[in-house]
Amino acid sequence: MTERALRTQRPKPADLLAWYDAHRRDLPWRAKRGRRAEPYHVWLSEIMLQQTTVQAVGRYYRDFLRRWPKVADLAAAPLDEVLAAWAGLGYYARARNLHRAAQVVANELGGRFPQTADGLRALPGIGAYTAGAIAAIAFDAREAAVDANAERVIARLFAIEEPMPKAKVRLRALTQDLVPEKRAGDFAQALMDLGAMLCAPKKPACGECPWAKACVARKRGIAEQLPRKAEKRARPLKRGAAFVARDKTGAVLLIKRPEKGLLGGMLEPPLGPWNAKFPSADNALSQAPFRADWKKCAGIVRHGFTHFELEIEVYAANLPRRPPITGTWVSPDDLGSVALPTVMRKIVAHALTRG
Ligand code: SF4
Repeated sequence: MTERALRTQRPKPADLLAWYDAHRRDLPWRAKRGRRAEPYHVWLSEIMLQQTTVQAVGRYYRDFLRRWPKVADLAAAPLDEVLAAWAGLGYYARARNLHRAAQVVANELGGRFPQTADGLRALPGIGAYTAGAIAAIAFDAREAAVDANAERVIARLFAIEEPMPKAKVRLRALTQDLVPEKRAGDFAQALMDLGAMLCAPKKPACGECPWAKACVARKRGIAEQLPRKAEKRARPLKRGAAFVARDKTGAVLLIKRPEKGLLGGMLEPPLGPWNAKFPSADNALSQAPFRADWKKCAGIVRHGFTHFELEIEVYAANLPRRPPITGTWVSPDDLGSVALPTVMRKIVAHALTRG
């Protein structure tokens, strides 16, 4: 398809906006029709939605707003509380950046978010996509917000065969080119909704699509094959041992991870190092944080991180008295309210059910 042909088939933003007006999703962070969204709400939802689904985010979003209704409230909250409220959403660096950004906005910018994508990008944890989304949705700036849904729509609309993630730059430029002068925020959300509601990864509902006539991939019958993905490299596998100790009351010993690095500042049961192989039983016991009657639990805990897979063997012990170790003893009933990431939650649950 020539560039000239692409130009003549240019999709009209007005068609998408008309569809959006009739079919838009009702999401907790969305402003009422015709109203401008609160920047704090848009920012909070966009940070939560990075790498996470709309379904998973709703509960967390409402909980954060209930606890910290304004950005200044979030800025003043202790980081540990924010991490605990975030537990389960994953990618914990986001929560730390969220807290730091709230402090910058509240303490250095007079409580106001920057109104341009460039200004927003200067805040911790805000990349090109998030900056574009907030600028467009909260301030109606003429910015593209190209999330995975939008990428899929645009890749199909223009039949971009270049595989992801290389195609990202081109998809962003094509999207930016489509953003209308007026209603840029609605356009950004309409594109996300089209991708989520009609232009699904499998079996897109092209018959209902407001851009069906302009869609090159539909005409060529290759919509479902786009966007193409570069071949995935197998993720390395790491293995290790975890030690779940309980005191006489049943409380579980948790320690804090280093502030920097993977799951920084979050809680965990004591863990040994992660290597290609599980440690032998003797070796595992030498990794335990203290001597105890450690018993290996049946089965393995598996967890996928972005860059590697993790398998953990779990050792459990019931202690007659607490050892002198720096940590927090948390009763099983309170595990839901501490900053325990999903993988660590799985390890503790494994010990509690099989230990
Ligand atoms: S016509 Fe089909 S493939 Fe093309 S944008 Fe619409 S839903 Fe997606």
